[in-house]
Amino acid sequence: MPKARSFGAKLAHEASTEGKMICPKCDTEIKKIKLVRARKGKNKSWMPKYDYVDICKCNEKDILAGKI
Ligand SMILES: [Zn+2]
Repeated sequence: MPKARSFGAKLAHEASTEGKMICPKCDTEIKKIKLVRARKGKNKSWMPKYDYVDICKCNEKDILAGKI
């Protein structure tokens, strides 16, 4: 079954080169986004904190609303 083999190879190739992930729950692409949060330091000063988070339809509302 050459077709099936090439299909599998194509999937594996895309996964390794582009790093795309599809969420099994909402079936949308999971993207990495960079979040900047204000974080209170020890000297009562606010320091930016940088986070990379995975975002998809399951959690994008919460993330964009700053709940996570
Ligand atoms: Zn999802």
